[in-house]
Amino acid sequence: MRTLETDYLVVGAGASGMAFTDTLIDESDADVVMVDRRTNPGGHWNDAYPFVRLHQPSAVYGKRLGNDEIDEVGPNAGFYERATGAEIRGYYRRVLDEELLASGQVRFFGMSNYIGPDGGRHRFESRLTGETTEVQVRRRVVDATYVESSIPATHTPPFDVDADVRLVTPNELVDLTDPADGFTVIGAGKTAMDTCGWLLDHGVPPAEIRWIRPRDPWIHQRRHMQTLELVPSLMEWISLWMEAAANAEDVPDFFRRLEASGVAVPLDPEIEPETWRGAILSKDERDDLHRIRNVIRKGHVQRLSSDRIVLDDGTVPTDPQHVHVDCTAHGLKTPPARPVFGPDRITLQYIIFPIPFSAAITAYVEATRDDDAEKNRLCPPNPVTGDAENFIRYTLISLRSRAAWREEPDMEECLQHCRIGFVQGIGDHLDDPRVQDALERIEEHREPAIANLERLRELATPSPS
Ligand SMILES: Cc1cc2nc3c(=O)[nH]c(=O)nc-3n(C[C@H](O)[C@H](O)[C@H](O)COP(=O)(O)OP(=O)(O)OC[C@H]3O[C@@H](n4cnc5c(N)ncnc54)[C@H](O)[C@@H]3O)c2cc1C
Repeated sequence: MRTLETDYLVVGAGASGMAFTDTLIDESDADVVMVDRRTNPGGHWNDAYPFVRLHQPSAVYGKRLGNDEIDEVGPNAGFYERATGAEIRGYYRRVLDEELLASGQVRFFGMSNYIGPDGGRHRFESRLTGETTEVQVRRRVVDATYVESSIPATHTPPFDVDADVRLVTPNELVDLTDPADGFTVIGAGKTAMDTCGWLLDHGVPPAEIRWIRPRDPWIHQRRHMQTLELVPSLMEWISLWMEAAANAEDVPDFFRRLEASGVAVPLDPEIEPETWRGAILSKDERDDLHRIRNVIRKGHVQRLSSDRIVLDDGTVPTDPQHVHVDCTAHGLKTPPARPVFGPDRITLQYIIFPIPFSAAITAYVEATRDDDAEKNRLCPPNPVTGDAENFIRYTLISLRSRAAWREEPDMEECLQHCRIGFVQGIGDHLDDPRVQDALERIEEHREPAIANLERLRELATPSPS
């Protein structure tokens, strides 16, 4: 058996493991061993459907991803470029080869399954040879798999499927050879939105698309989710979000205010959303999706057979030539929150959107602080459960974290210059009247927002009687 010694064993080389390691070696001289069962870094992006793109600008996902250009043509015109899945995969391979491995501080073991601890040492096994490697870890194990993504290409549909049904993943959709007798897209998340948009873009008439959406989502508008030169619109958005949080009388009123100010909008303007997962759409994309009028809201699919679809609250007909697209994988997993800095490991979780930013902050805190209680104070987990009311909790924890970071001059400095934080570039726009107004509104509402959200959170989750 091979044996290794290292400071950090990072399990998982997806966006979180990569961002953590990238920042850790920038901030320290630590030695790192990375293990992933896939051959390449980048996690779920390696199996993503071919028409996937980042929701947000590339600049807010990878430290060196993209060229910071604003698109001039196409559906994203006027907004910062958004990387395709292929660009994200290429990016992580480049970061691994040219930065992490080239630093001499990192060793990467792909095609390797982490097995677990064994008497103070950790083991992983090659998926090709079965060879076991034992690792002695001097500092920490970093679990970058805890919020591992679940995607249609690799999950099992959560409903029964008869043998003669045409059910495909979004990945398989692009390989269809026999024309379909209509399409049914199952799921209400970003993958389903992308799939419906792709079908429309490829000439499928809206009347031939049926969309099963058990619960409708809130979405954010792309015009707000910008950075660098367009950061004033983001600052306005943050300030309106905070104003809504400070003034909301109750939970429904919070969402009414978010909608009225455009901070969050329903996917379908006529249906009150029940979920929030942070999906971002442009106005044109949302209008386009609204052309699909055959939306089935009868709960989740239980069984798919050749002539009907059985749902929680009813049945709808289908036929063997009809193509069903499974977009039901959860995307973001939401296991119970646990302390990021535990006695035996660092567990990477959402602290703030997006996950690479959370992982980079975690690495910075690990490299610059000694005490675990202090590290956990600065990095409280902030899970995204998918329920709309979770947006209250998420907002509260984000505001508290930001308040704590503001008290730490080095962190404030690091956050302002961190390329994957949304507010990068703000320092160049302090004389912009929109930014000044936004900063005043933020200052005025920050403390009242925290106090009011505490109250709203109680209303949203009444204590059991
Ligand atoms: C389709 C889709 C689109 C998305 N789009 C966006 C977006 O536009 N913007 C955004 O901010 N977020 C987006 N997300 C959220 C996304 O989850 C994160 O951006 C991020 O990619 C998640 O990275 P991760 O490292 O946490 O998980 P993963 O990408 O799942 O990586 C976990 C890694 O751990 C490895 N692993 C697991 N167990 C073991 C083991 N025992 N041994 C060895 N290796 C193991 C896996 O092989 C995997 O490579 C999207 C998610 C999905 C599913």
